[in-house]
Amino acid sequence: MRVTLIFGGNQGDRKALINEAIKEMSDIGKIELCSSLYETAPWGFESSNSFYNQVVTYTTDLSPESVLDKCQEVEKKLGRVRSGAQFCSRTMDIDILFCDTQIINTPRLTVPHPRMALRNFVLAPLNEIMPDFVHPVTHKTISELFTESPDTLKAEKQLIP
Ligand code: ADP
Ligand code: MG
Repeated sequence: MRVTLIFGGNQGDRKALINEAIKEMSDIGKIELCSSLYETAPWGFESSNSFYNQVVTYTTDLSPESVLDKCQEVEKKLGRVRSGAQFCSRTMDIDILFCDTQIINTPRLTVPHPRMALRNFVLAPLNEIMPDFVHPVTHKTISELFTESPDTLKAEKQLIP
């Protein structure tokens, strides 16, 4: 299957950490598509550090649950400490946005990712690499969702090399 992941963090050397995480996740399979790096203000809480986000699609033979296991292993390896707060500063968050067009609702996993499809820090990089992908629940394309997004936070493409 093709699995689309979003990487994000607002602590430490954000760019280096995201590059490292993308490389570590290659254990699941081959990178197909990779967005630019985007910068956004923290969503849902106050912090002096902005977030960096990047979206990557891999082809993998693993199950969605095994991909989630690997995401959590890499988060831990890159220094993430779970504080329990829903929105908080972190060195690395790796979320599954899509697994092909599968719809998954288990205690551990909701795919497509429910909260992220309304946020510009997800939609901007997604729109760069797969604007014509049809969201399996809303049946809208990514570019339609991005155009209609109610999110007022800007996601800027990070141009710093
Ligand atoms: P968040 O990403 O929502 O800020 P966490 O990274 O701490 O918060 O994740 C909390 C839980 O969300 C994880 O333990 C995981 O089981 C669950 N989860 C549900 N759906 C997904 C998904 N699509 N991608 C990643 N985690 C998910
Ligand atoms: Mg997460």
